[in-house]
Amino acid sequence: MFENLTTRLSRVLDSIRGQGRLTEDQVNAAARELRMALLEADVALPVVKEFIDKVKVRALGAEILQSLTPGQQFLKVVQQELTETLGGNAEPLNLRQQPPAIILMAGLQGSGKTTSTGKLALWLKEREKKNVVVVSADVYRPAAIEQLRIVAGNVGVEWFPSEVGQQPVAIAQAALAHAKKQYADVLIVDTAGRTTVDEAMMKEIAELHAALNPVETLFVVDSMTGQDAAKTAKAFGDALPLTGVILTKVDGDSRGGAALSVRQVTGRPIKFLGVGEKSDRLEIFHPDRIANRIIG
Ligand code: GDP
Repeated sequence: MFENLTTRLSRVLDSIRGQGRLTEDQVNAAARELRMALLEADVALPVVKEFIDKVKVRALGAEILQSLTPGQQFLKVVQQELTETLGGNAEPLNLRQQPPAIILMAGLQGSGKTTSTGKLALWLKEREKKNVVVVSADVYRPAAIEQLRIVAGNVGVEWFPSEVGQQPVAIAQAALAHAKKQYADVLIVDTAGRTTVDEAMMKEIAELHAALNPVETLFVVDSMTGQDAAKTAKAFGDALPLTGVILTKVDGDSRGGAALSVRQVTGRPIKFLGVGEKSDRLEIFHPDRIANRIIG
């Protein structure tokens, strides 16, 4: 992720020459280049605008550190601003709920919901030593239920059966009753996705949310969709009280626009990155580390 942005950014920095304090002309020229680089990375427009405004203000107001060249000063400002745009501090998964803690997975079809459910289940089992149950409330696609059964088997967590034709809320409630009986720590509920945001889908998942009162409602989104990811996130965020985002397919995304847009547009933190198809390809999202990766 961010390869293009990193290359562009290093060119911007190379163009800032001289010694001493950053001049206004230097800041303006660098800001123009930076703006182009962010647009090319497919960052959402309002996010680009705010980012550039803040970088300018910070760069011109920055105290002079004698040891830094103007290029380094600008780099430091960009690094700080990137970290903030990406969310500031890492926000860990919240499991502070009377067990079983419920995690509801939301997102469009193909975004990587089922894969991420498996990844999260494995992560919780291995890293957090949690006893996890997963269930699919996708009553439209038998293949989706079967996919989750296989994924659960692969990562070694319990799969609670469900069937096409059942009511999603009834499935979730039965799974919850079962998880309680098993003294499970976490119940992850995978949900149906559609190819576009539609009202029926939003209504269904809002009902599931109301019935389950999950401690985490995670929006799963494909990083490759760039600023569209931010738009979809906004639509889901308006319909559901999201608590966080899982950004998937980051391994195939060289631009990184989604990562830079989603937090600002939804106000919700990115909590995990999906970095490959396999179940262990999940990373905790650390804004400062990602900002450093962009800086190169
Ligand atoms: P769902 O319809 O939202 O449940 O999406 P799936 O979990 O079935 O994922 C759709 C496709 O994306 C599958 O082929 C997954 O293997 C793939 N996928 C999911 N997450 C990642 C990821 O982080 N990296 C890559 N490269 N592929 C992923």
